[in-house]
Formats: sequence, C-alpha cells, structure tokens
Amino acid sequence: MTIQIITLFPEMFEGVLNTSMLRKAQEKKLVDYGLINLRDYGIGPRKQVDDTPYGGGDGMVLRPEPLVVAIEDARSKVSNQESEVILLTPRGAVFTQADARELAKCSSLILVCGRYEGYDERVAKFVNRQVSIGDYVLTGGELPAMVVADAVTRLIPGVLGGETSAELESFSDGVAKEHPHYTRPEQFRDLKVPEVLISGNHEAIADWRKKHSV
Ligand code: SAM
Repeated sequence: MTIQIITLFPEMFEGVLNTSMLRKAQEKKLVDYGLINLRDYGIGPRKQVDDTPYGGGDGMVLRPEPLVVAIEDARSKVSNQESEVILLTPRGAVFTQADARELAKCSSLILVCGRYEGYDERVAKFVNRQVSIGDYVLTGGELPAMVVADAVTRLIPGVLGGETSAELESFSDGVAKEHPHYTRPEQFRDLKVPEVLISGNHEAIADWRKKHSV
C-alpha cells in the first residue's frame, strides 16, 4: 500500500512513520509512505498557500489551487492504482476501526492535512471522504493523519506479528473491548495477577478473558 500525506509540516511525521510497527511495515515493503510538502505547490515567489477568508473573519484559509494540484500530483504518482483521497477535518465523519479496516484494503491512500482556519471548501470536491478523529479541534491535520496512517498500517496483512492479533483487538467486532492484560511480576506492591491467568488452565483463561471483555 502507498500512503501519501500532503502537509505543510512533513518534518512532523519523521518520528512516527520511522518508529516501531510503521517502520517495520516499511522494511517489510508492505507500505510505502510519501510526504508531500504543500509549500512546494505554493503560489508566486513567496510560495503562498493561504489567504484571508472571503466574508471576513479571523485567521487564514488554505487556498484551493496548491491543495488540488498537490492531490492531482499524488494521484498521478500512483496512476496505476485507484487512490482514496481523505481530507482530515473536524467536520468529517468520526474515524472508526471499521473505517481503518476498509482503508487497509486500498492500495493507495492520500491524506490531506488542513491548517490555520482550514481549507477552501471547494477542495472537498476533489476528495473521496472527509474524516475527523474526534469531536475536538486540533491545530492541524497532521496528528489526525498520523492516527489514520497508524490505525490502517497495522491492519495490512503481515504487519502485525500474529495474524490474528488485529481480529482479537478492541472494536474488531464494532463494540467489543479486549480483556485486560497482565505480565510479570505476579505481584506488584499489593496487586496480584488474577489467579486464573497463572493456572495454566486454558479453558478457564479463555472464559475469564471473555467475561472481562466489555
Ligand atoms: N476552523 C476549523 C473549525 O472550527 O472546524 C478548525 C480548523 S483546525 C485549527 C485546522 C485543521 O486541523 C483542519 O482544517 C483539519 O485539517 C485539522 N483538524 C483539526 N481538528 C481535527 C479533527 N478533530 N479531526 C481531523 N482533522 C482535524
């Protein structure tokens, strides 16, 4: 899968995309991340990407031309594949595990990060879906894009160690939350690991886990 991210701040992604599971997914050639600097598509000698809002008001709004040309360029880089273009916005549908599962089947994702007061609404005509990561407002679409990239990448077959881990996790059936986990030591201060988990009785452990899944 290819995941391209259009952003004014590509440097924000280096740590997240090159750590742990996401780094391993790249090493295994299961995903290829591309960072596209929106500034490169800016207008004029100052590479302007934003302007004041029509109708007045505070803040700046991302202009449509740089964003749309960046989206078109990203699409053309994977022209042999169908791209799903996702605009990150608090006005979008709230992102769920079901969405992550659906997106993990795509061969090309393009994530578009807004900034400032947002983007010119005409950009919405050039994307396939608008996604929010929750009912709160962040400074930019970069953190939401990281959330989507992470949730999707770990569901690409072969990325997680055990092929079944993703199926057992919270929300895999829409509502279920995974049972609690314990590791060594058996006793931490006055807190003990539930007896059943060290009993070696697999049936009893399975029952306990089922009972403690919400
Ligand atoms: N003025 C906008 C509003 O009130 O809805 C908020 C703009 S926000 C400061 C700048 C950008 O951050 C948005 O265009 C979007 O790309 C991103 N963003 C902020 N919160 C988000 C969220 N909860 N989910 C997805 N993207 C978000």
